This record gives sequence, C-alpha cells and structure tokens, in this order.
Amino acid sequence: MAPIIKISCVDYKESTYNMYMARLKILTFPDPRLRKVASPVKEFNKSLIKITENMLETMYEEGGIGLAATQVDIHERIVVMDLSEEKNDPRIFINPEFKILDDKSLFSCEEGCLSIPGVREEITRPDKIKAYWQDIEGKEYEDEPQGLLAVCFQHEIDHLEGKLLVDYISPLKRDRIRKKALKSVN
Ligand code: ZN
Repeated sequence: MAPIIKISCVDYKESTYNMYMARLKILTFPDPRLRKVASPVKEFNKSLIKITENMLETMYEEGGIGLAATQVDIHERIVVMDLSEEKNDPRIFINPEFKILDDKSLFSCEEGCLSIPGVREEITRPDKIKAYWQDIEGKEYEDEPQGLLAVCFQHEIDHLEGKLLVDYISPLKRDRIRKKALKSVN
C-alpha cells in the first residue's frame, strides 16, 4: 500500500483527483526518451496537480526518494521527492533550477536511480548550491539545500536536462550497464 500523500496547498475536500491516482511506467536506461530536455511548466492547473500526485504515487510504490517527470515520459520541468525516513514529507518542485555557489566545494555520494535499476555509483557534485523552484500554485522559492537534498535536487534536474548518472562514469562502465539492461529487457 502506498503511503497517504498530502500536498499542503491542495484542498482534497474539493478535489476528487486523489481517487484516480495512478502508478506511471518508469522509463529505463537506455530508453532514448530519457534524453529529452523537458520544457518549463507555464500553467499551474489541475492537470499539473494530477501529474504530481501520480508521480508521488509512483515514486512511493517504486521505493524511490526522488522522481523527475522525464522518467515517466512527461517532458515538463516537474520533480517530486521525499527524503524522510517515514515517507511522510512529499515535496514538489516545479521549474527547479540551481546555481553553483562554490565549484571547489564538492560532495561524493552513492547514487541510485529508478531508471537504472540495480546500479549504484559514487558521484561527485558541488554541495554549495542555491536552489530555485516554484510550488504547485506557481509561487517562487529559493534555498540553499544541504547534504542529500542538494544531491537529489541536482540528480533530478539532470533528468530534466536528459542527463543520467551513467554520464558521470567511464564510457566502458556505461556500455557494460547498457548491455546488461538491454539483455534483461529482451
Ligand atoms: Zn534518477
């Protein structure tokens, strides 16, 4: 069973959308659709609420901590995350962006990806970043995320740019992962 999903700025009493939450199919590497660059969200409407609900549902069902719309073949700049142990802190980032505040301050973390099952790689990224995003109603936010949130934020924005964690590793290793993935599909 999926955890109950609460999105603070949506009043479910007036919404029947959560009755129709659906698990979406996650694209897996090397699917070329994972390479598409997502477009900015311009309309903050019911369709956007529905997409984020379905993305959260899918992320929880798959046991992930973050999911970008690109991974479910929706090419808009939408990211969902829940970094809490209890899986009760869903977060939605619309049109997320970041700028690096100090490119010499780096952080290494073992990352996994729902689009590359079974693979975990140590990736080094900047850890001093300024993050910008909008909420489901279009309100703008900025913050300086730390630790796992900073890592996850960059990982998910990579997806929106068509970039994957295998792009950070050697071509030889990437090719090995690609061959293995193709073998398991066929
Ligand atoms: Zn990923």
